Amino acid sequence: MSLFSPPRYQAPFKPMRRDDITPFMKVFTASEGIIKGVLFGCRMCGNCILQETAFICPMTCPKGLRNGLCGGATPEACEVDASRPCTWHKIYERAEKMGRTEKLLEINAPIDGERVGRETWLDVVHVWKETEESPKFVEFFSNRKKFDEDWERVFYNVRQPEWWQGDSEYHAPAYEAPVSLLEANLRTGEFTCTAEIAPPLSAATGSICEKSGYLCDWVPAANFTDNASASARMGSLASSKICLDSGLEPVMQLQARDRSRVVIESDAMGAAGLGIRNILCLTGDHHRFGPGPVTKPDQFDMDAVQMLWLLRRMRDDGKYIDGRNIKYRPEFFLGAAASPFGAYPKYEALRAEKKVNAGAQFIQTQPIFDYDGFLIWLEELDKRNLLDKVYILAGMIPLKSARAAHFMADEVPGVKIPDKIVKRMDAAGDKDGQAEEGVAIALEMIEKLKNTPGLNGIHFMAVHWEIIVPRLMEESGLPKPGITSLDAIPA
Ligand code: SF4
Repeated sequence: MSLFSPPRYQAPFKPMRRDDITPFMKVFTASEGIIKGVLFGCRMCGNCILQETAFICPMTCPKGLRNGLCGGATPEACEVDASRPCTWHKIYERAEKMGRTEKLLEINAPIDGERVGRETWLDVVHVWKETEESPKFVEFFSNRKKFDEDWERVFYNVRQPEWWQGDSEYHAPAYEAPVSLLEANLRTGEFTCTAEIAPPLSAATGSICEKSGYLCDWVPAANFTDNASASARMGSLASSKICLDSGLEPVMQLQARDRSRVVIESDAMGAAGLGIRNILCLTGDHHRFGPGPVTKPDQFDMDAVQMLWLLRRMRDDGKYIDGRNIKYRPEFFLGAAASPFGAYPKYEALRAEKKVNAGAQFIQTQPIFDYDGFLIWLEELDKRNLLDKVYILAGMIPLKSARAAHFMADEVPGVKIPDKIVKRMDAAGDKDGQAEEGVAIALEMIEKLKNTPGLNGIHFMAVHWEIIVPRLMEESGLPKPGITSLDAIPA
């Protein structure tokens, strides 16, 4: 148990190699580990960002997230282990009390494995000495503003290694012409819809071809989930390519879970090489939501914010994370997910801003069943001036049965279904009656969403019921894509 952080989820890290560690450093590192362990629950990640996170160690989070909470976080508990609080909720709360909320916008680097299990205090001393204009203690009294700025500079240099250089700024995409049909349609300002197609459980590809066949007139692009809920299916990259070959542009979901930074870069580059331009970056569900047997608990090398930062820099700066140049840069239209009903909307908006700053150009949300709650989240985004920097597509799940409504209301983190909707589904009679009631509920919500300022479209997640999307769009009068070929865009 630590004084200032939630308890550790996993044990402290050990160094990757010890052949260069002297006996003195062993003792020094052990002392630092004990003191920081008692105070902060420190896991000796060797990449300390406590300055940034209101002195709560983010490595106590079960996913090891270093840039904010995950989609299933709630004020009450962690989505992975309900016996513990969400580390990031604690960070937001304390940062708010300390007046340091905006500091949480800085994009933190993933862990450098070489530094894991090693001390950081001597590192701070070293950086302090090397930094020009490092703080002078006398200025703490004589010139507090300068002292604070110099102090901040030193700790920025400690937090942000040369190969990362994260900041709190918005980085607009460094290209002109749209790279995908989805982007081209969103740029027109027309309400634009996307749909999700469930990747098959088997090696048979027919369902992708069939579904893309009846969706291609209605949506400019279809999403393919990436082993959602930690449950294996056909991969997102393969499904996306099959979809592309069938005539519909894919949105390839790429999640951080189970991928090292090397695989993230390689999969994204492979996708670009295959002509897949839309990439939705996700942190991913923890393995504990999967069917089991459950894998090792620590499967996150990066988070969604870091992935966006990484892929945007590959595209706009032409660099891999290790600094190697990319001769032919990939073209990406980058997306992110948002969870308007997970944490408090002000915290969710902070997280959304971080994703937009890192590189998100469109956001698809968790399904919306509570319109008023959704508006509160949208207003929080507006307060942060995000609505003219990112396209927002509201998530929509047409309910097919009362059972599905109960499951989502009770089991799916980040989804809120008002009681009156669950009751309507319960009272809808047999299977067909329930499906019709689900359609009616969806149509009512679409009517509100399509007239919502700041909203750019709807993302339909009618998993295993994709055929309902054309009907919903037709009956609600949602427009078909205006641009169906990138060649058709006027110069
Ligand atoms: S809810 Fe998510 S962000 Fe919060 S501690 Fe748990 S895994 Fe981490």
